[in-house]
Amino acid sequence: MTPDEFRRHGHDMVDWIADFLDDTGSGRRVFPEIQPGDVRARLPEHPPSELESFDDVVADLESIIVPGLTQWQHPGFFAWFPSNVSYPSILGELMSAGLGVNAMAWATSPSATELETLMLDWMQELLGLPARFRSTSEHGGGVIQGTASEATLVAMLAARWRVTGGDINADGDTTRLVGYCTSQAHSSIEKGFRIAGIGSERVRLVPHDERFAMQPGALAEMIATDRSAGLLPFFVCTTHGTTSSMAFDPTPAVAEICERERLWLHVDAAMSGIAALELSLRWVNDGLDRADSYTTNPHKWMGINFDCNLFWTADRASLIGALSILPPYLQSAAAEAGAAIDYRDWQIPLGRRFRALKLWFALRTEGVEPVQAMIRDHVAWTQQLADIFGADDRFEVLAPHPLNLLCVALRGDTVESANAATDALIDAANATGEVLFTRTLLDNRSALRISVGARATTHRDVLGAAALLQRLAPAR
Ligand code: PLP
Repeated sequence: MTPDEFRRHGHDMVDWIADFLDDTGSGRRVFPEIQPGDVRARLPEHPPSELESFDDVVADLESIIVPGLTQWQHPGFFAWFPSNVSYPSILGELMSAGLGVNAMAWATSPSATELETLMLDWMQELLGLPARFRSTSEHGGGVIQGTASEATLVAMLAARWRVTGGDINADGDTTRLVGYCTSQAHSSIEKGFRIAGIGSERVRLVPHDERFAMQPGALAEMIATDRSAGLLPFFVCTTHGTTSSMAFDPTPAVAEICERERLWLHVDAAMSGIAALELSLRWVNDGLDRADSYTTNPHKWMGINFDCNLFWTADRASLIGALSILPPYLQSAAAEAGAAIDYRDWQIPLGRRFRALKLWFALRTEGVEPVQAMIRDHVAWTQQLADIFGADDRFEVLAPHPLNLLCVALRGDTVESANAATDALIDAANATGEVLFTRTLLDNRSALRISVGARATTHRDVLGAAALLQRLAPAR
């Protein structure tokens, strides 16, 4: 592709994206009518033997790929959690691709590193996070990673390093380590334990209460039992906004136990932490002033394109102790003097993209006011949904709904019949193509999750989704 062709196709593509995002709802199903293998069957099995025009590729994108996508930007998207985008953030992605730098260390791209550090400090301020996470604090700092799953793993590795006084790096002995979360914590916690060589059985599932939140008393007892069995408790993960029901673990009470027992406390607020942009919802930060690490995702609710996970720690020495290795080919005067941050030591891979650009573009040109307004709307509409379903005796609200997720179920004579009816309702609603809901299990009750988070969703869409569910629900 020549520079002139790149200009032409690039401008066309930007137009295409603007049209697509301007009109995400009309004429498209949220989830396509499609079977596994359908997309591949429409594509040539082998690489082309002759070059094709870019226009032909775009034509196939429009006719084969886009119709086979789940439409995450659709106003009827109420599934999982959102993955919002915004125009300045898309341009930040484009610019990152165009600049083509690798931001693995300060010396490999000084401004990429320094802008990233600054963006983490800006976000610390905008979210009202404790000053101990700031890069200018004595022991803290933050980094952009790909996902919350990576952040959790990195937190675990730092915790593992700290509890073993660094010995883990040499002997790799994880046999006595044990950590804690509830059954409501995201599956990435268990995955992290597996990757860190600790294993699923050494993740103790602390009982939760009727609000699906961790019971601190039970945590303290489990730690004592493990200690008396000769094990080495090292890590607790609380969640601020669980994936299933958006439950909040009581981090202040858990932090007290962690301090007493000298355990690393990681707080996973992948989805809900962004709520703190809105001042009236700052309670989502409760307890963070005593956490060792914290993560939240601007790539979910905030509208910074995937991937953009923010991870802060108040103990960067343990993080760097766990992950830093300096072979000759990565050495630089700045690294040796300790004068600059080398983000390769704050994450699993070496190479890294220039992700700070998309935050910088978005924060400078759109700011947080539109996001604050959207958050307020989504929370208010969710409360309205709770009233609607609370007043319909065919439905039951299964969990507290402090923010923008409502878990509802149909009632039944038995748990089995209620679950079957709820699952059938989810299938029937999704089959319309107008909406997409996902299911979860809450203490064995099947629940329809209404996650109100897509940027394009309006009040009308939310009321329309509720009316659809009420229309499809069987009479009792
Ligand atoms: N933690 C929580 C509470 C989540 O809700 C999710 C995803 O929804 C994750 C972790 C995993 O997020 P990621 O895809 O960024 O790894």
